[in-house]
This record gives sequence, structure tokens and C-alpha cells, in this order.
Amino acid sequence: MWKVSLAGWPLAHDLTAEAPPGFRPHWASPTVDSASPPSYEPAQEQSAEIILSFDIEEHDRIEAAAGLDIDPALKAHYRERLDTSTRWLLDELDRHEIKATFFVVGQIARHNPALVRAIHRAGHEVASHSWAHRRVHNLTPAEFREDVRLSKDALEQVTGKPVLGYRAPTFSIVRETAWALDILAEEGMAYDSSIYPVRHDRYGVPGAPRAPFLACGHRHSILELPLATLRVLGFNIPTGGGGYFRLFPLFMMEKTIRQAGRSSQPAVVVLYFHPWEFDPEQRRLPLRWRSRIRTYMGIKRTRGRLATLLSRHRFVRALEIAKRLDHQHATLPSWNVAGAT
Ligand SMILES: [Zn+2]
Repeated sequence: MWKVSLAGWPLAHDLTAEAPPGFRPHWASPTVDSASPPSYEPAQEQSAEIILSFDIEEHDRIEAAAGLDIDPALKAHYRERLDTSTRWLLDELDRHEIKATFFVVGQIARHNPALVRAIHRAGHEVASHSWAHRRVHNLTPAEFREDVRLSKDALEQVTGKPVLGYRAPTFSIVRETAWALDILAEEGMAYDSSIYPVRHDRYGVPGAPRAPFLACGHRHSILELPLATLRVLGFNIPTGGGGYFRLFPLFMMEKTIRQAGRSSQPAVVVLYFHPWEFDPEQRRLPLRWRSRIRTYMGIKRTRGRLATLLSRHRFVRALEIAKRLDHQHATLPSWNVAGAT
């Protein structure tokens, strides 16, 4: 079991193609030796492939707003703004002829199926960003499995196509929640993109590989596409997107892309953004000053920055990389997330 390859699936040309019946990526195999050292090949000069991704959630679902009592009118406002800002993104991507991966909260497939359909019809990959944007820490394994199923089913019902990628809310797959990797593999996900190899108070797996690797849970492994970091003086700086895109100068992201091209194997970087980050007209959440600065600083310049980024680079969908790496799985390093220190 677990040995069906992605090979033969005409994904490079048509990302919307059906997965073969009984599809299981062959890296979703039982964990063999999760302690085996990474088999990096010698670095060579090349340009990195850049996965462009968006996490599709309403603004009031952000971690900084957890515990806030948000009135229904404001919630409705953010639902509306999510629609507007996501459609703005779709137009921007179309203008630059770029296809991306959209990790969508499953509940959105229920209350705004037209938006999910629009993402899919524009040729982007629709992947899962959980059912209700609850952090994995707050779920039992059984609840997490149900959450993944609900979101996968809801999104698939709208697009009619398999959902094969997952990103946890607030990058909440960490050492303590490594069991979630087993469940993702068992539920038919081809890859995960939840691990941020940084030290942070809310998320992060500091020692994890910075390039794609096989992430081992307790029973299975799954292809991991970690969020981009910049290595400086022995530290991993989070430069993959979100707040860092708004707060750091753009050259940090550019440097990250160049560094990955020079020294990552495979040379792949994952960037991530949220629609609300491109929407300076939305109403502000009643956050405390520190969260307020983190959340809204730089929000007026993000549209221009994104346009610059999109005009300078070529981008790919996560599933395209997953398919290609399926042929190279033997050379990918395995890394035991459950045993991380
Ligand atoms: Zn999110």
C-alpha cells in the first residue's frame, strides 16, 4: 500500500486533472529511519523555483484576534472584504500570467463557494487551510482528522477536483503536534506546507530543513514544503511572507530567493500572503497596540511590493513541485519532526 506514484498524472499541463483512482503519493510510506542524515547534494548555481501561496481566511481569523469578541457586523464586513481582496489578487495574478496555490479555509467553501470556484477556474491550485482555522494545538488527533476531512470534502465538492495540499493555521504543525503529519498522509494529502524552520513564540520547528524534505511523524512521512527563511550568521530569519513581507524591506525576500538558488537542495522557496494584507481599506480590528503594529504596519505599501515581486520572478504551484519531487523522493532528506529539539 501507499505506493501509487504521481507519475502519469498530467499535472504539468492540467493541474485540474483528476487524481488516479486510489491515489496515494508514495512518500506517504511508513516511517523507515527518521534519523537518517539529510542527503544534500553539492550546491550549484541555479535559480530557485518559487511557490507562490495565499492563505484564504477572513481577517478576524488571525491569531492576534483570538479571544476577541467580534460583533457580527464586523465579521460580515471581513467576509465581504475577503471576497473583494481575493478577487483583486486573482486579477493581479492574471495580469502577470502567474498561477499560485490557495490554501482555503474549508468553511469558506460553504458560505462563499463562488469565490472558491473563481480561484479554481482561474487555474490556481485549491488546497486546504483547515476547516475552521483552529490551531492544531487545540485539537485532539480525532478532531484534527475530522477537520481535515471536512475541509477537503467541502473544497472538493466546489471544485470537483482532489485537494492534495495542506497548510495548518498559524503554522501550528510543530514538534508537539507532529502526529498531525501521520493523519495528513493517511487522509491522502500529497504534501504539507506548515513548517516554519524558525524560533518563534507561537510556531516554528527551529532545526527543520529549510528546503523540501520528507517530514516524519510517528508512523508515516509526508513531503514538507517549508516556509522560506534567510540564513544569516547561523540563524534562520523568517522571510517567507505575511508580517515579514510588510515589516522587512523587499530585498530580504529577494535575498532569500537568491540564497535558495545558490545553496538549497532542492532549490525551492515557499512564499505566503493573505488577501487582507493587500486591503488597506478594511476596518481595523480592536487589537492591543503591539498586535496592532504587527498587523497593520506596512499595509499601505503591500500592493506595490507585490506587483514588483510578481514582475521580477516566475512562480509555480505547490502541487507542480510535489509532482516533480515525487520522482526524486529517494534523494530527499527525511527529518523526524516528532523528535525535534
Ligand atoms: Zn491562516
